[in-house]
Amino acid sequence: MRDSTYNNELLKCVRCGACKTLCPTYSTTLNESMGARGRIAMLGELDMERFTPTKRLAEKIFGCMLCGACKNLCPAGINIPEIIYQGRTALKNSYSKGLLLRTALKFSASSPDTFFFILRWLQRLFYQPLSKTGFVRYIPEITPRPFKKRVQVYKNIKKVSRIAFFAGCSVNYFYPYLGDALFNILLSKGHEVVVFKGENCCGSPFRALGLEQEASELARRNIEHFNKVRAEAIISICPTCTMVIREQYPLLTGDTISNLLDINEFLIKYDIAENLEISPRTVTYHDPCHLSYGLGIKNEPRQILKGIKGVQFTEMDHADECCGFAGLFSLHFKDMSKSISRKKVANISKTSAETVVTSCPGCITQLESVKKEANLNIDIRHIIEVIDEAMHG
Ligand code: SF4
Ligand code: SF4
Repeated sequence: MRDSTYNNELLKCVRCGACKTLCPTYSTTLNESMGARGRIAMLGELDMERFTPTKRLAEKIFGCMLCGACKNLCPAGINIPEIIYQGRTALKNSYSKGLLLRTALKFSASSPDTFFFILRWLQRLFYQPLSKTGFVRYIPEITPRPFKKRVQVYKNIKKVSRIAFFAGCSVNYFYPYLGDALFNILLSKGHEVVVFKGENCCGSPFRALGLEQEASELARRNIEHFNKVRAEAIISICPTCTMVIREQYPLLTGDTISNLLDINEFLIKYDIAENLEISPRTVTYHDPCHLSYGLGIKNEPRQILKGIKGVQFTEMDHADECCGFAGLFSLHFKDMSKSISRKKVANISKTSAETVVTSCPGCITQLESVKKEANLNIDIRHIIEVIDEAMHG
């Protein structure tokens, strides 16, 4: 079915089960077929043609959150999320639930602005009535003007350095104010900032739906932009974009982007988060899966937050456990997503923190959604907002 690399990876599994110890879909369902080990075993059977591609099998493979919690636990070194992507490509036609989204995403790849323009009108017409019935969960308002449509180069007289910003779909269409917060910081520190006017989706939702070819094409187009821009660093405030570009683009295209930094890495490397102060408050931190499991960035955000005068930092239990978002997972596996998010709410509540900080726009969407549902009185912030507030009030 697949190439020999895929086949060899599947054969490396010794069924030890280490990968399912942190698997959120396994711990929620206690069902082997909804855990990392079970998925690897089933894909092995499919690869050897002892299983046929069925709707039921596809549900199990598309029911993975791609959180990556399993990846670093495997003693055989199997890159489990990569295996899942390959499995999804093979099973996509059996996953009927994904048909509408696959069609919509294929359209969005060629005309992202038109796609989000249409989505914005659908949101304006149907979101309120559907959210009242509980059919849809919290979705931030789609902006009429994507972030990337703004000025392309923000000049700076000081020109300490030239930094490019990969906004990603979350900032471009849902959270442009996070891009504003970042630009306030960069410009006040004397950096010249470049926006990729023609940037494309990083490809993550495409891979999640088994659209490998389309994801590779988007990766190639983005790499063309990256190669054209003269910038000391490219920064991203979305860990999924960062992880996909850093870890997956080499697999998809053979090209590596070596100057891409997550915002936490950037803030530390460029000494931006020093001598800052905010009004006193208790703060806790939620680790986005793709930042902690995917990129191994756990200490940096804590170091930044603890260094801000006025922050009383309190660690929550299981801070690195998923919030339940996982992009398309929260749409197709609503009950499981809610159940996972309830654990997160309980852990946040136990801290009695006034603010929960994270480094991911997707986690913000999920946390805002559970905040509404659980009637939580807590402020939810991206770390870039905290830094902007500390620098500019
Ligand atoms: S990526 Fe996450 S949900 Fe998927 S198998 Fe691994 S731990 Fe489980
Ligand atoms: S940890 Fe690795 S070897 Fe063990 S069951 Fe999971 S995939 Fe197989």
